[in-house]
Amino acid sequence: MTSPRIGVSGVLRSWDGADRTGVNAAYVRSLVAAGGVPLVLSPLMGPSLAARALDGADGLVLTGGEDLDPSWYAAEPSPLLSPPSRERDLFELALFAAARQRELPILGICRGIQLINVALGGTLYQDLPSERPGEVEHRPDGPRDLRSHRVRLQPGSRVAAALGATSLTVNSSHHQAIKNLASALLATGWTDDGLIEAAETGSDAPWLLAVQWHPEEMYAEARAPEHGLFAALVREAGSARGYLVGERREQETITHAVQRSP
Ligand code: MN
Repeated sequence: MTSPRIGVSGVLRSWDGADRTGVNAAYVRSLVAAGGVPLVLSPLMGPSLAARALDGADGLVLTGGEDLDPSWYAAEPSPLLSPPSRERDLFELALFAAARQRELPILGICRGIQLINVALGGTLYQDLPSERPGEVEHRPDGPRDLRSHRVRLQPGSRVAAALGATSLTVNSSHHQAIKNLASALLATGWTDDGLIEAAETGSDAPWLLAVQWHPEEMYAEARAPEHGLFAALVREAGSARGYLVGERREQETITHAVQRSP
């Protein structure tokens, strides 16, 4: 009844002869499993309605997808840039600004960590293989939940606490990544060759955590540490609105008692 409501930024795609808008089911599955109520937010409503769309939301997930337009961080487009979506960039930058203003907890995933970094003044590698060649394969062939490279996590960080680990082999499906980190963020996860794979706010700032991999795709793995990321977001979203689990139980007990009384 008082499960925290979590906005999830959506995409526009065409298939089976129709334009469709929504999110990958894995985000919804992961949030429902964590006790949240996902609210799918379509970029078709445009940036002017982004703040209104977040009314009643207790948290926000910024999801994976298209490359950001490099003009947001004053770079010329690489020939290897995948086509950006101006519509999605504008909508999500507006969502992020509104969520920050309201101090909602924010979880960024893949494109989400990139968008957050750029919105706060950082820059990106537009194409890792050509701009930062290395041993680590960030877009391996295989299923979306294939664990393929290691990420070391800063002990004591939000991400290490949420995952209950300081090292994790993660799935990976990206060709862009953080280059210069925005000054408002702390890097808290790295590949073995030093690429940033997790970033977050300090403990004195509203809760924000972002990862470069795809924790939502691990939904079917019952004991996946990644469930902890969604659980942490839902817990923060709940506590921000006074939905602490203890209080909720108490409230439900009272409600049931009232309903049963003659
Ligand atoms: Mn990666």
